[in-house]
Amino acid sequence: MADENCPKCGAPLGDITETKTGKKLQRCTAGSWNAETHQTQGCDYVKWLEVPPQELDEKCPKCGANLILATTRFGKKMKKCSTGGWDPQEKKAIGCDYVEWINGTSEPLDMDCPSCGEKLVLFTTSSGKKMEKCSTAGWDSSTKAPTGCTYVKWLKPGEVPTSNAGEEFLPPEPKEG
Ligand SMILES: [Zn+2]
Ligand SMILES: [Zn+2]
Ligand SMILES: [Zn+2]
Repeated sequence: MADENCPKCGAPLGDITETKTGKKLQRCTAGSWNAETHQTQGCDYVKWLEVPPQELDEKCPKCGANLILATTRFGKKMKKCSTGGWDPQEKKAIGCDYVEWINGTSEPLDMDCPSCGEKLVLFTTSSGKKMEKCSTAGWDSSTKAPTGCTYVKWLKPGEVPTSNAGEEFLPPEPKEG
């Protein structure tokens, strides 16, 4: 495939780069990011690339095919059946229509809650925002009130919980012999 050129200024597009959230993009080589002014200099054209869906190790409860993880352009995540699709000619859904929206995920952290001493969990919302919250926190749907500990700390984009920062993110060293 020939190198693509920028539709704005005609300069070639640069290498594909990946954001922290796993989105892929190509910037125009006639533009560059100035970290001091936080502004793009030159051409600001950015081409967002479709991220291929990630196949999950889970089966569709309707038809038994593999599920895939899809992300909408607004960053919401859903699991959907890999046999499902859209027929642009017939303008109708084809295959299996199973979809499960993901409202957020939480993973345990090796950190203690500063207000009650229980463990914290890292909660990721469906839009990709992250917060540390207490593992005892819950929601009572009958009283519509939070239960347990209410400790919450929102993380800035790109920020990682301190206990997981640094060396723990490195892959384990290969064993010799
Ligand atoms: Zn350009
Ligand atoms: Zn299915
Ligand atoms: Zn707590």
